[in-house]
Amino acid sequence: MSAVPGGLTTPEITVVGSLNMDVRLTVDRIPRSGETISATGLKRSPGGKGANQAVAAARLGRRVAMVGAVGDDDAGREITARLVAEGLDVTSVAVSEHPTGTAVILWEQPESTIVIEAGANADVDESFVDSRDSAVRAVTDAPVVLCQCETPLGSLAAVTRLATGTTILNPAPAIPVPAEIRDRFDVLVPNRFELATLAGADEAPESLADVVAMVRGLAFPGDVVVTLGADGSVVVPRDGLPTPVPAVRVDAIDTTAAGDSFCAALADGLLRGEDLVGAARWAARVAAVTTTRDGAIESLPLADEVPAALP
Ligand code: ATP
Repeated sequence: MSAVPGGLTTPEITVVGSLNMDVRLTVDRIPRSGETISATGLKRSPGGKGANQAVAAARLGRRVAMVGAVGDDDAGREITARLVAEGLDVTSVAVSEHPTGTAVILWEQPESTIVIEAGANADVDESFVDSRDSAVRAVTDAPVVLCQCETPLGSLAAVTRLATGTTILNPAPAIPVPAEIRDRFDVLVPNRFELATLAGADEAPESLADVVAMVRGLAFPGDVVVTLGADGSVVVPRDGLPTPVPAVRVDAIDTTAAGDSFCAALADGLLRGEDLVGAARWAARVAAVTTTRDGAIESLPLADEVPAALP
């Protein structure tokens, strides 16, 4: 285990991303515009794609550093305490003058409709990363760096400029990431809707052939893994044939954080020396367990909770 100045150990995975307080309202249906309905349940818990992916990787046994920002408020303190309890290095989690990011989730089991207020996450831009020695070190030294799109595009630009390891972009939520930033990542992990947004297409691709054609149309110079929900995923390497990876059949009760746990497990598999297909098979098993449990962070499995073989 190598040490960096300050006595901290070098992370295996650095996550540059969002930290939100999730406020989840369980609803029987999504209200129409202008309508008021009653929720049947309320749950408040730390979340955000960055936090979810970072905790997912830590629960799989990885040393993880988080780069992000929270507000100087109760939500921010609760999220940071949770990350520490999960064993994450939070040296590069800054306390902002803006409030902690909030996600209001209308949960119509098993799917969610989400509205996000970025709050402090909007601080995490290029200069945020560049101006913090600990963040620069965490991004430069980690063998894998994981990013999403809930922090400004500048944070992604900083990662691709500084990272020396493998860089993975989960382009979620769907925004048109400019090619000059996108193409500097090594691996892209979109779902089919995010893929369509990257490709500038009006409709998400349906068939496997359409998915692969849309990936090829991106002319992305790295490897792409498209997640397809209960239909699994498809690995489209930069050169070579696409390989479909089936989902593991489980009784899914809540798909929240399935994509986040998939991305973290993909990183974990690559660190173990698996090729992308092997890593995607492992990721499918980890994500499947996540869908059998309620919630976001609380649904993420420990490595030894992922069965060696699932039906
Ligand atoms: P989210 O935004 O909810 O985290 P996502 O849209 O980013 O999800 P998905 O494509 O829905 O990601 O799911 C990621 C992976 O999780 C899939 O490739 C699959 O392996 C697994 N998965 C998702 N839903 C199911 C399910 N119902 N049963 C088994 N595995 C599933």
